[in-house]
Amino acid sequence: MAEPVGKLTYVCPHCGQKLSFMEGTVVKMVGRLHADTFSCRTMFYIPSRLGQYGGIVGEGVRIKEGAFVEFECINGQCRRNFTTTYDQNLAEIKMIDEVGNEFVVIFNKIYGKKATFLVDLKQKRLVEQFGEDAESYSREFNDLINFFGC
Ligand SMILES: [Zn+2]
Repeated sequence: MAEPVGKLTYVCPHCGQKLSFMEGTVVKMVGRLHADTFSCRTMFYIPSRLGQYGGIVGEGVRIKEGAFVEFECINGQCRRNFTTTYDQNLAEIKMIDEVGNEFVVIFNKIYGKKATFLVDLKQKRLVEQFGEDAESYSREFNDLINFFGC
């Protein structure tokens, strides 16, 4: 089973836009927040190291735990939502390692929830999971993974 090698680059799974910034240490995405009476979008800067949580959001925005965030591509021509087709609570982006192996990183869209999964794109296998909330997903995840790439 392949493990990611060397420097990792995150990209949009739809248009290939590079989402890694600051020498690969952060992943930049558009985050859209919805409430009953308004909706707003801001930039999210999330640590690129898997299993590391927290993040920085655009100025003037404060997000509380439990907020539901729609993540989108930063490319204005693309703007695709990263929500998975199989679970509204999860989003996925592509990750490419230094030798060209492709992975999918799947993460929770609920702010403060810690669940991340690393999937080998070619083998469609779960490589590793991260975060204290990942366990609650892992049982259904084996079923979900069968849908991936369909
Ligand atoms: Zn894109």
